Amino acid sequence: MEQVVTVVGGGLAGSECALQLARRGVRVRLFEQRPTRPSPAHHGAGLAELVCSNSLKSTKPDTAAGLLKWELERLGSELLRIARECSVPAGGALAVDRELFSRAVTERVAADPLIELVREEVTTIPEGPCVIAAGPLCSDALFSAIAEVVGGERMSFFDAAAPIVDAESLDRSLVFEQSRYGEEGSGDYLNCPMTREEYDAFMGALLGAERVIARDFEQADLFCACQPVEEVARTGHDSLRFGALKPVGLTDPRTGRRPWAAVQLRAENASRTAYNLVGFQTNLTWPEQRRVFRMIPGLGEAEFLRYGVMHRNSFVDAPRALDATFAVPGTSVRLAGQITGTEGYVEAIASGLLAALNTAAELSGKEPVRLPATGALGALVAYATDPATSDYQPMHVNFGLVPPLADPPRNKAARREALAARARADLDAYLASRPDLLAGA
Ligand SMILES: Cc1cc2nc3c(=O)[nH]c(=O)nc-3n(C[C@H](O)[C@H](O)[C@H](O)COP(=O)(O)OP(=O)(O)OC[C@H]3O[C@@H](n4cnc5c(N)ncnc54)[C@H](O)[C@@H]3O)c2cc1C
Repeated sequence: MEQVVTVVGGGLAGSECALQLARRGVRVRLFEQRPTRPSPAHHGAGLAELVCSNSLKSTKPDTAAGLLKWELERLGSELLRIARECSVPAGGALAVDRELFSRAVTERVAADPLIELVREEVTTIPEGPCVIAAGPLCSDALFSAIAEVVGGERMSFFDAAAPIVDAESLDRSLVFEQSRYGEEGSGDYLNCPMTREEYDAFMGALLGAERVIARDFEQADLFCACQPVEEVARTGHDSLRFGALKPVGLTDPRTGRRPWAAVQLRAENASRTAYNLVGFQTNLTWPEQRRVFRMIPGLGEAEFLRYGVMHRNSFVDAPRALDATFAVPGTSVRLAGQITGTEGYVEAIASGLLAALNTAAELSGKEPVRLPATGALGALVAYATDPATSDYQPMHVNFGLVPPLADPPRNKAARREALAARARADLDAYLASRPDLLAGA
């Protein structure tokens, strides 16, 4: 293939995409604006820098994150392989030495004769086939250029969202269903009642927790919108009890009394498989959210489908702006990584890989790649590109996105194992029907 593909952004998605295209014999010009133009969140000049935590999440095969890793391995991900080589002990998770990882990816890209690495900011949409993987902090000029292609109303710039938890992971013996003032519980609101001691301990942990420091560029826009829960907490010990955690109008059925404070959970979707923590937009780091918010009664084992965020996050309204392969219809532009609205390090790697598969398929006149929606990546792409998805918000992989099993086991662990087994079988079958996908690799 003589055509050169331009990849914009040498982050997780762009680096994976460039390496996968090169493996298939496609020449790549990979543009990375750092260090000439530093990003507000990155610290160095290396490719594939992890901007926050060094965890790539669970490796357990019966979790969505573990399944995604299996899928990436099956599809021959370069960055996942490098991550494993740079891993540090982290129990059931894959965590990496971030500097080693970034250095190894940079060296791997530099050593590839088919990849030309250009250290420049891209300010317009490149000519010819291109994959834009400029991330959540995409430079302003390029983001404006993308807005012209997809339509300005299909772009988001800021993200201030509370964490979302998996309904199945809630402890229903503690959490009760009730709207304020005894209205009949429709299941739209759940309440996590706190005793005085639990509230005091929670406030202590919240105030002491590690935060992602908001940069100047973010504060101006963020603070006029809404306050992070930990900032509200800082204004006084009872501030949350009289604010988002007010127990007014609630009666705990276990005690028959009004709790000292209560965290409300609001259903995220009609099927009530996910709930968000009302008023919990936050700047705590992701591991700290997991530690501190699991202190809330009923959330001791909570699975976070999405962590709370308050940062600049440039992403397009994928269900309306992109086709099922993340391409902008009628153009030679394809997006990958967090700019598509998928969220998470491994999700970014996965979408970079998928962008490469689709671009290579397109260049050689093959069918687009449609991974089975039963898989972690296939389900995420299906969700992100389904025009029926309304109020599109960034999302991690999770089992709530896959179609239900025909005959689901009652036991949760068995159900997850069955979902993972179905996904593995479906991907194997799909790859057997598409020998071209792994052939060039
Ligand atoms: C503050 C913050 C914290 C996060 N923490 C986590 C976390 O702990 N765990 C997790 O799983 N996910 C986290 N994420 C979410 C997400 O997974 C990461 O942002 C991930 O790095 C996204 O990968 P990407 O390849 O899409 O973008 P990036 O890895 O950001 O890569 C994009 C690259 O494009 C470059 N670029 C931008 N504009 C241009 C241009 N015009 N020309 C050339 N180059 C350009 C940038 O310099 C950057 O190197 C976080 C995101 C943010 C913003």
